[in-house]
Amino acid sequence: MTRPANRPVRVGIVGAGMIGQDHARRLCTMLAGAQVTAVADADLGRAQQVAGSLPDARALPTGHDVVASAAVDAVLVTSSGPTHEEFVLAAIGAAKPVFCEKPLAPTPEACLRIVEAEMAGGRRLVQVGFMRRYDDGYRAMKQAVDDGLIGAPLLAHCVHRNATSPPTFTSDMPLTDSAVHEMDVVRWLLADEVTALSVLAGRRSGYAPAQLRDPQLLLMETTSGVHVDVEVFVNCQYGYDVRCELVGETGTVSLPGPAAPVLRSGGAVSAPVAADWRQRFARAYDAELQDWVNSVRDGQGTGPSSWDGYAAAAVARAALTALDSGQRTPVVMKGRPGFYG
Ligand code: NAP
Repeated sequence: MTRPANRPVRVGIVGAGMIGQDHARRLCTMLAGAQVTAVADADLGRAQQVAGSLPDARALPTGHDVVASAAVDAVLVTSSGPTHEEFVLAAIGAAKPVFCEKPLAPTPEACLRIVEAEMAGGRRLVQVGFMRRYDDGYRAMKQAVDDGLIGAPLLAHCVHRNATSPPTFTSDMPLTDSAVHEMDVVRWLLADEVTALSVLAGRRSGYAPAQLRDPQLLLMETTSGVHVDVEVFVNCQYGYDVRCELVGETGTVSLPGPAAPVLRSGGAVSAPVAADWRQRFARAYDAELQDWVNSVRDGQGTGPSSWDGYAAAAVARAALTALDSGQRTPVVMKGRPGFYG
């Protein structure tokens, strides 16, 4: 059925937890051209509460009811990672565009099933929530690289620090939940694939939960031979701090910090550090969702694709092997189909 051109995109949300609620608020109060019409969650009471706080939404019993609803043009999957595959596949089966928060799915095999279903349908329906690609600072860095301002990239240095991790965080999660953003953004910045990586976990911070090896260091290698180091430290205590510097043959480019006032007072110079990812990347989340809504309106898939979700999962899989073995580990990945450009 064709959507009338002047009607807002009617979005159904599967997963009404932290980021599902954030995205619902964005769609209803900050972005243009969308309304939320249906919400489901594993906890029906939570879905009812969230739907009740939105102007046009009703709670439905399951995510599959949301996908199937005649009042839903497009689906936003913000449930927990292991449940993403079934809802994304259902949306593809219903030929409805779907925005899926990262990870697209927890394993490369599951991501490939999504890739294959999307290709079988013949058009791009899936956008993955790698919001850093929409951050003004990362976009300026990419522009500088693409314009040749630093020459051929040779090295990248990345830092990913969170003030604290949830108490349930285990040693794989800094790689699969946190550094997965660097795994994606570096592929995008360099237009290159990660081919191998090593992971080191040294002295453990006394502030990390007992089961968590924190911090960790990754060294990623790309097809063209760029080496990328990533410090991932999820209990740094002082705030949320993301850094990135690319070193090229003729120059370097660094990720600017978010605009913030610099205070000179009491004999000291100080500037605030973001408390968390919601604050640091708020504008990027707005921009990625607006881009998705516009792409649904225009009938043209855009942004990070299910292939990007697959690639990130393949790199994350190699990182887990490298963490366990202490060995440099190749990334096992299929060749990119022409469908994904
Ligand atoms: P959360 O607060 O735990 O929310 C997930 C919600 O999904 C919970 O309410 C959960 O219910 C519900 N759920 C679980 N299984 C379901 C199912 N089968 N059907 C419907 N709902 C179901 O987690 P979150 O922090 O919002 O994260 C959600 C996703 O977003 C994760 O994949 C996460 O990695 C991603 N995320 C991405 C970013 C980013 O920077 N792009 C940031 C944060 C989160 P129960 O709690 O009752 O199980």
